[in-house]
Amino acid sequence: MSQGNHSDGNGSGTMQTTGRILVLGGGYSGLFAAANAADVARECDSPLSITLVSKDGYLEHRPRLYEKNPDTLRVAVGDLVEALGIRLVIGVATSIDTGAKTVTVAGTDRTQVLSYDRLVLATGSELRHLPIPGMAQFAWNIDSYKGAKAFDDHLKAIAGTLAGPANNTFVIIGAGMTGIELAAEMRDRIEQHAGAAVAQAARVILVERGDDVGPTFGDEPRPVIKQALELAKVELRLGTGVASVRRDSVTLTTGEKIATATTVMTVGMSASALTEQIPGKRDESGRLHVDDNLQVIGVEHVYATGDVACAYADDSNMAIMSCQTSRTMGKYAGRNAACDLLGQPFRRYRQPDYTTCLDLGRFGAVFTMGFDRKLKTSGAEAKKRKRWINTEVINPPNVGPVDQILAEMRIDQRGR
Ligand SMILES: Cc1cc2nc3c(=O)[nH]c(=O)nc-3n(C[C@H](O)[C@H](O)[C@H](O)COP(=O)(O)OP(=O)(O)OC[C@H]3O[C@@H](n4cnc5c(N)ncnc54)[C@H](O)[C@@H]3O)c2cc1C
Repeated sequence: MSQGNHSDGNGSGTMQTTGRILVLGGGYSGLFAAANAADVARECDSPLSITLVSKDGYLEHRPRLYEKNPDTLRVAVGDLVEALGIRLVIGVATSIDTGAKTVTVAGTDRTQVLSYDRLVLATGSELRHLPIPGMAQFAWNIDSYKGAKAFDDHLKAIAGTLAGPANNTFVIIGAGMTGIELAAEMRDRIEQHAGAAVAQAARVILVERGDDVGPTFGDEPRPVIKQALELAKVELRLGTGVASVRRDSVTLTTGEKIATATTVMTVGMSASALTEQIPGKRDESGRLHVDDNLQVIGVEHVYATGDVACAYADDSNMAIMSCQTSRTMGKYAGRNAACDLLGQPFRRYRQPDYTTCLDLGRFGAVFTMGFDRKLKTSGAEAKKRKRWINTEVINPPNVGPVDQILAEMRIDQRGR
């Protein structure tokens, strides 16, 4: 345990602290990790210096980025973080030295080196450009606020020209969760900028390399999903990948060339590239293997959480990259990092009750439970649940009394 006065780039000044926790990434996991570390410090009446590095001070609601109005899909967290006594550093972490226990952060006006006693890596996941000619230049994405905003601006820009065959065809690559949600919503997205008639006349094409939509969804929800896509007049291209993307077309591996000004990529998700700087074992998605306390296996003083962590959710299933997982894991990672510094017992991460709620636009939603995705509800009932998740559950608490904020952010009675 380190003790004493800190006056390095962490900005803890001369305040007596019992240790420095540095959280990288201001998404769900990072925010909940920082808050729960602050909660433990309060519980133990031991000041910790907690710093959260966020690239821009916003929590992006990534699960909602298929929806319209991207500007409404992120929330500024500065006031919340300040209320909890957490220092917010705006910048991008560019390198991690686990030997020296430092992180270099590039801000808009300066680069600083932050020291830590415990590091919590929460930098999430990102779409990596697949080695497909033209993909990096011409494909759109809804992976981040920036990507979703650029995509929406593109829809706005072409709205007046949607009569041509290329401009009124929209090709979505990947029939996983993101691709399905966007395909089901696509006509509403077009309608917002170009009107109902243009939206109804548009072609929406969903391309999937696997033999069926939702390859990881299992057999129970798939008929509901397929029926919704049919009602949404989404054309399917199954068993084919993408050979190349151009500004005005996409060519599939079957040889089919589709004239389109809009190809949206939803596949190729990997854990943040910062994981490569931690000398731990990683899984095929780049996630760091962590133990039950979310410490990176074999790397001292480093915790990983959310989309960068490969953890057991129960005794046989690994946690899936998801919002519900990231929020809960963040609570455990922040808590355990603080308990580690303060000599308190760890809390073992487990989250066995995995659920999925997939939005099907005007055609309802589908709700499943368990890692084998057993169908629980669909249609209007599932849609109601999806709206509740998207508009209430995933929001951070409002700024208010600290006890109230922390009560809303700590591990609940179900262990979530
Ligand atoms: C379109 C879409 C739809 C989805 N739908 C669902 C859904 O319906 N249900 C569900 O459960 N999940 C869904 N997900 C997945 C879910 O959004 C993620 O699993 C979740 O956001 C992960 O949370 P996180 O905190 O680990 O990472 P993120 O939310 O990715 O947050 C990480 C943050 O760290 C930042 N960051 C990255 N690198 C650095 C760096 N070097 N320095 C500083 N900051 C950095 C990132 O910009 C980001 O702000 C969806 C994702 C997408 C993209």
